Amino acid sequence: MFQRILVANRGEIALRIIRACREMGIETVAVYSEGDRDAHYLSLANEAYCIGPASASDSYLNIKQIISAAEVGNVQAIHPGYGFLSENAHFAEVCRDCKIAFIGPPHEAMAKLGDKVTAREIAESANVHTVPGSDGLLTTEQEALETAERIGYPVLIKATAGGGGKGMRVARNDISLKAGVKQAAQEAEKAFKNAGVYLEKYIERPRHVEVQILADQHGNAVHLWERDCSLQRKHQKLVEESPAPNLPLAVRQDICKSAVRLVQTAGYYNAGTVEFLVDQDNQYYFIEVNARIQVEHPVTEQVTGIDLIKQQIRVAAGEELSLRQRDIECNGSAIEVRINAEDPDNDFRGSPGRITKLRLPGGPGVRFDSHVHEGYFVPPYYDSMIGKLIVHRESRAESIACMRRALDEFEIEGIKTTIPLLRKIFNHSAFSDFQVDTTFIERTWMS
Ligand code: ADP
Repeated sequence: MFQRILVANRGEIALRIIRACREMGIETVAVYSEGDRDAHYLSLANEAYCIGPASASDSYLNIKQIISAAEVGNVQAIHPGYGFLSENAHFAEVCRDCKIAFIGPPHEAMAKLGDKVTAREIAESANVHTVPGSDGLLTTEQEALETAERIGYPVLIKATAGGGGKGMRVARNDISLKAGVKQAAQEAEKAFKNAGVYLEKYIERPRHVEVQILADQHGNAVHLWERDCSLQRKHQKLVEESPAPNLPLAVRQDICKSAVRLVQTAGYYNAGTVEFLVDQDNQYYFIEVNARIQVEHPVTEQVTGIDLIKQQIRVAAGEELSLRQRDIECNGSAIEVRINAEDPDNDFRGSPGRITKLRLPGGPGVRFDSHVHEGYFVPPYYDSMIGKLIVHRESRAESIACMRRALDEFEIEGIKTTIPLLRKIFNHSAFSDFQVDTTFIERTWMS
């Protein structure tokens, strides 16, 4: 097992990893930008190094600085968290070239799955349904028109290198398709330095269901059941839960098995998430693999009782999975909400600043994963998420009741947050009856 790990991230996930390491008796080296200099969680690491100015490209995305910190800090492994360099296959390769274990998948599998068109091909070869779409990347306008005719409008134009909900646009007819393909390719070139785009059938009002998997370096792979993440705003998840409500057990088992087949076909190990869309007839279609730990991993931890960060570390150290599929149960219902420093009355614009008052909810069934505290200054440079509130109770109805009262207890002043929108969601009958899909928030509150 490793004795010392560098945490190449910030905020709540950096703290989550430091906490797991402390429980495992592993020392940690934290890194921080000048924008995070005063963050309290840094004092919980054994050492902390400044890796550059506040801007992420000069610090948390700066591979040279991070590798230097790893060498000075004398670590055996790097945990990349999520976001930043976590899905950068080049970074994973550099770590391994420097004889530092990368706590994540092999860079070859990451590179293949990070490209959405290649990931679709792998899914097809693993016999996993994909959304009907173009045969690989679009090369001509004619091909786009022919594909749309074959699969039927509406279609979704997607960037092969896309991520974070960016680089997607819907086309409902030939004219918008022709214009959309050009614009999407230009945007993708600008955002991802890769102009490749492809077409998928646009699934109307789908649910987003994803499967947590864990695989070791010895060929063993298991799933830890599924999460439903249908409550999204601009393709960004806001509420996540496990198990997926109103989904028949046979469908859940089938999706989970498909996910395991897919990662085994890709030569993948460590933790990962296989994402699917589920249509109104419970037909499911693979969309992509997230080759990292995800923001919403705590709901899976709550229902399975398995600590995913510790598992990631053990797998990276070469240990065999001690979990057997038949022993992994999904108990009760867990729901997570993302608390973002955003202003719901101002088009969810970022709301950085000092937290002048913070009173946290607690009591049975409540978990709060966050690095913030009263007096903390939310810097303007990074993602707006400041914490995740998670509840776990025996049934979904009890989890909803628990979340409602936890959100009522939550007091935060000095910055604006998504809490008012979250309260509305938990008081809406469509959410308690689970009559929701990925367009629910926008249809209900944004138009
Ligand atoms: P990203 O990598 O940018 O997160 P994904 O492929 O994971 O992109 O898709 C993100 C979200 O976009 C999904 O959760 C869903 O809401 C929507 N989406 C993606 N593909 C489709 C599709 N074919 N039809 C309808 N919605 C889609």
